[in-house]
Amino acid sequence: MKDKDLPAEKTVVAAAGQPASGIAASGIAASGIAASVRGLSRAFGDRTVLADLDLDIAEGEFIALIGRSGSGKSTLLRALAGLDREVTGEVRTAGQVAVAFQEPRLVPWKRVLANVALGLRVTDPQARARVALAEVELTERANAWPGTLSGGEAQRASLARALVREPRVLLLDEPFSALDALTRITMHRLVFSLWQRHRPAVLLVTHDVDEAIALADRVLILAEGRIAHSSPVDLPRPRDRDHPDLVALRLKLLAQLGVPAGETD
Ligand code: ADP
Ligand code: MG
Repeated sequence: MKDKDLPAEKTVVAAAGQPASGIAASGIAASGIAASVRGLSRAFGDRTVLADLDLDIAEGEFIALIGRSGSGKSTLLRALAGLDREVTGEVRTAGQVAVAFQEPRLVPWKRVLANVALGLRVTDPQARARVALAEVELTERANAWPGTLSGGEAQRASLARALVREPRVLLLDEPFSALDALTRITMHRLVFSLWQRHRPAVLLVTHDVDEAIALADRVLILAEGRIAHSSPVDLPRPRDRDHPDLVALRLKLLAQLGVPAGETD
């Protein structure tokens, strides 16, 4: 297959020291890799945040990324989403990429349905948006203003807005960290069932080690600008947090982070 036959793919390539030059077709779709990062670097002034980082995310893989506050997790996500043209290195994705951020970023003067349909280039955006809202169980709030939503509802709207694009790669930047404990558990179940149904590759940034090991196929730690650690989580879901393997993994990850009591961010 020729590279130019894969218009859905995106690659951002930049020579060291030069801004990323743009978007072009590439050839990773047939490789089983949904996103591939090579030699990614990013500095802000004289502070290097990402340093020659490599990462592959398999098609349909659920990855959780943890790391201390300021370690560059959001910077990596922005690079993967193609939102940062100042990175150097290579970012390739095998198709549509969608992002949901910690703060839902809904447009306040548009109703929920219009927010989800925003920018959708399909024949009936509103119909597609309704399907996505139903999937996140928010149908009854379709005509609500964003300002009237609870935190959990706003995050569900934000998830619907990401899902409606049918992404091959779904990037989630601490989407649950502002929610109360019970709402978080509901959101975990929702994200898990959406992932099972649609099977995008997921990169979930979280400061919560328990969230990471409950949901992910693989947990990564970002430290000193690179993927410093990678642990597979080979247990069926739903997972019992007291399972001895998970207890051991939790301790291992916390030790890797150099954090004593579960505060990773
Ligand atoms: P994390 O998401 O892991 O908490 P970030 O990726 O947001 O970390 O930030 C990593 C580092 O880069 C931090 O020190 C942050 O202050 C810095 N940084 C991020 N964005 C910018 C920016 N636009 N300008 C200057 N510094 C930035
Ligand atoms: Mg962040």
